Amino acid sequence: MNLRVDLPAAVAAQRPLIACNDLGHVYDSGRGRTVALRNVSLTIAPGEFVCVLGPSGCGKTTLLNILAGFVAPSHGEVLVNDHRIAGPSSERGVVFQDYSLFPWLTAQANVEFGLRMEGRAASERRKVADELLRQVGLPDAGAKYPFELSGGMKQRVAIARALATKPALLLMDEPFAALDAMTRYALQSKLIDIQKQGAQTILFVTHNIAEALVLGSRLIVMSANPGCVVEDIPIELERPRRRTSPAFNELYDRVARAIGLDTAE
Ligand code: ADP
Repeated sequence: MNLRVDLPAAVAAQRPLIACNDLGHVYDSGRGRTVALRNVSLTIAPGEFVCVLGPSGCGKTTLLNILAGFVAPSHGEVLVNDHRIAGPSSERGVVFQDYSLFPWLTAQANVEFGLRMEGRAASERRKVADELLRQVGLPDAGAKYPFELSGGMKQRVAIARALATKPALLLMDEPFAALDAMTRYALQSKLIDIQKQGAQTILFVTHNIAEALVLGSRLIVMSANPGCVVEDIPIELERPRRRTSPAFNELYDRVARAIGLDTAE
């Protein structure tokens, strides 16, 4: 199914940063074939904060991995600024649920890692890392190793590391799912600030409706078997967003119905 959707005029008028054209993906393992994605077409404009939501197994991670360049789609293509992607690139930064920091490097060195790979001078790397660690709220943690940091701190470092190379697109795969509620809320606020300051384009995978509605400017709802897009909804709630407002709850119910949850229960 290919969905045509009405995006806000300002977004629709922009040249897309990302275009997914008729993406499909099949995993073919010894135990059989799984159609993880079918007919997924969507564009993302610069500065959009797109949340992707859906039940387990609907292909969210597969879509993110294709956009990151970790997985080559079985069908279709991904264009970034009109150029077809052929693999991972520092223009697309990724933050995973399990932090994935290099345990043998300090927080500072973790943040500097991508810049080091790009061959940037030590003084420039230090300046960028200092600024990003400050931005994520860890100005004094640069010398610490990952084992010395809490889950929330590790994820702040992972966000700083992903932003260091100034990626055109930040891809986030359930980055706050393993955190306690207080830490999750704090990091959601931090991410909103970071997105606003840099007009960073973000694709954020979550299975939490409230999280998607707090963060996103747009919500892609997926369903499983085969994984496909069933709704593409602009989130036009005013910021700061209150989870208790009638507009928030109305949208929550609409999304819950789209993924087959009965909110009356
Ligand atoms: P989600 O992130 O929404 O939970 P995934 O993209 O992880 O969904 O998975 C989509 C479907 O593809 C699921 O049925 C899953 O079991 C299957 N799948 C994911 N990765 C693999 C893999 N490496 N090999 C075989 N099947 C896979």
